[in-house]
Amino acid sequence: MAYNDQTRSLYQKEIEDLKAQGLFKQERLIHAPQAADIEVEYPAGSPLKKVINMCSNNYLGLSSHPEVIKAAHEGLESRGYGMSSVRFICGTQDIHSELEKKVTEFLGTEDTILFPSCMDANAGVFEAVLTDKDVMIADRLVHASIIDGMRLCKAMQDTYKHSDMAHLEEKLKLHRDKRLRMIITDGVFSMDGDTARMDEIVRLAEAHDALVFVDDSHGSGYIGRTGRGVHEKYGVMGKIDIITTTFGKALGGASGGCVSGRREIVEMCRQKARPYLFSNTIAPVIVSGVLRVLDLLMKSTERRDKLERNTEFWRRGLKEAGFILKEGDTSIVPVMLFNAKLSQDVSRDLYQEGVYAMGFFFPVVPKGQARIRTQVSAGHEIHHLEKALEAFRKVGKKYDILGKTKDEIIRAYGL
Ligand SMILES: *Cc1c(COP(=O)(O)O)cnc(C)c1O
Repeated sequence: MAYNDQTRSLYQKEIEDLKAQGLFKQERLIHAPQAADIEVEYPAGSPLKKVINMCSNNYLGLSSHPEVIKAAHEGLESRGYGMSSVRFICGTQDIHSELEKKVTEFLGTEDTILFPSCMDANAGVFEAVLTDKDVMIADRLVHASIIDGMRLCKAMQDTYKHSDMAHLEEKLKLHRDKRLRMIITDGVFSMDGDTARMDEIVRLAEAHDALVFVDDSHGSGYIGRTGRGVHEKYGVMGKIDIITTTFGKALGGASGGCVSGRREIVEMCRQKARPYLFSNTIAPVIVSGVLRVLDLLMKSTERRDKLERNTEFWRRGLKEAGFILKEGDTSIVPVMLFNAKLSQDVSRDLYQEGVYAMGFFFPVVPKGQARIRTQVSAGHEIHHLEKALEAFRKVGKKYDILGKTKDEIIRAYGL
């Protein structure tokens, strides 16, 4: 047997090293549907604790919305549990095609192709449309799934400093002799909660003859006046060549993703993208659920409007309490603590006070920029947010960080 004691101890040592470095991830068991109020078992074996969830991507509160659950049931009844096939063999139902049309309408693009996840969309799209004669120029903070997708593609890779348009322009000029140049960015950057400057990016793309790719996983459904995403917010609908996004966040929270954009690019993905060709079709239950989600969002902006009000209330409350926030224009609100251990201690104490919010530190964010990342949802009511603010104030007071400057916090706790 190759998996002998030596092999086992090799992995055991790596796992111990992760624990020693504080990088070991331990999952918390939620004994309830995803929502503002959840019951959590943590650590494993502890009694259940009721907490307010401030760290899910359930931005519109749709992951357990009765209408969406009803639609999922209808999908289950009318189209079965699963297709037991990839799309191009016998895994395409009428509702898959209907969902592709509806996403196209929602995002204001030319065509759409579904993928098992956005991770898969990103893993497949670059290789399907670019060759070694082309270049991919990506923002330095793009999501891990984009980095992996770029690795699978033979086109040359380059980067520009986060949201630095002058640097991007330099790179576009540098690569002017390539067959195709593709600018690659997240729509919403999930650690900081800022948005890509899509108007500027489109302007540069037009000036330097480049394609624009945006992964709007954290933006689709609520960013922009009618929730279509960052391209709506920046007034460049119809000008983005490729949008990838997930159905696992604001758009219902189950799973699945897509590539949406230029007709020929979508067709190239249908012919060549490997995660599309070689991984199972999205289950009918989910397709039905997402169809209903998009109907709800196209009928009314009520949920994204409520989210906007909730987010304003939350930001203002934290600021007035004396916390340092990362400025941003999304429902991701990072509370800056700078020191890694402090972020862990504050997160643990918040949990004791009934608030579930995670601390993030190096290597997830740069050294010295540890934080608690909070995420607001339309599923929150003001009473949830008031209670969570009270917990934040109490814990902030305990650690004496309210009203303190960055330098004062670093002086007290180190980096
Ligand atoms: C969450 C996320 C993904 C992954 O989406 P899945 O559908 O869960 O695979 C991809 N890109 C970005 C920017 C994300 O935030």
